[in-house]
Amino acid sequence: MTDPLLMTRGLHCGYRGVEIVRDLNITVRPGEVIALLGANGSGKTTTLLTLAGELKPLAGDVLIDGRVTTAPLHKRARQGLAFVTEERSTFANLTTRQNLTVGRANIMAATAIFPELEPLMSRGAGLLSGGEQQMLTLARALARPTKLLLADELSLGLAPKTVGKLLTAVRAAADEHGLGALLVEQHVHRVLDIADRVYLLHHGRIRFSGTAAEARKNIDEIQATYLASTATAGQGSKDTVPLPH
Ligand code: ATP
Repeated sequence: MTDPLLMTRGLHCGYRGVEIVRDLNITVRPGEVIALLGANGSGKTTTLLTLAGELKPLAGDVLIDGRVTTAPLHKRARQGLAFVTEERSTFANLTTRQNLTVGRANIMAATAIFPELEPLMSRGAGLLSGGEQQMLTLARALARPTKLLLADELSLGLAPKTVGKLLTAVRAAADEHGLGALLVEQHVHRVLDIADRVYLLHHGRIRFSGTAAEARKNIDEIQATYLASTATAGQGSKDTVPLPH
């Protein structure tokens, strides 16, 4: 098996010493798309911020390419990490093309991923629709030598068709270029359709890890037990229903 692009060892994450996520042990290998699921407040964003280098771990390690890293996001970005968030992170005053260039993305590769962007190259990014902006954001991340994508709610508030295009592009980058991706996604069914594996966070701990096929089989139970209600991370979590591992 190939070495992980990303690995955590007993990672604890949180804010100002308050633990939100505990004892996280996950891996993302080249070519793998992983879904990180959990109810509101279960700690998904906190996890991604820590993996991206935006938050310091409270304990444990983050390893990228087999090496423990404490580098901030801009240094991890140079090593091939891309972090995409729900906030449309385009420069509104620059054109689509300029946004790609500033992001060191290859224009031809970007339009191969999203042909929709081709007629929009000279348009100001601030004038693009929400879906177009998120395509631009993802194209900027994928049309450069990105090895590892961390995406937080890539498709929040977007039309189903656009959600499908974004997730398909991530799957294709994994299949064709060996991208490893860790996706936090509200569209659970959609992400399970393209994911290889799943980690399910509940009250800040992993409660289920398995293949996307296993998760799909148990989707009703997962949704009813873990995703339906608003959870508060960091609380006790003995009241969980075991799922097959
Ligand atoms: P959602 O699906 O609603 O985005 P999430 O699973 O991404 O939720 P987080 O955003 O990681 O959850 O939040 C987990 C917990 O951490 C919540 O209880 C939240 O209030 C808390 N939290 C988030 N940001 C901070 C912060 N800057 N300082 C202190 N606590 C925070």
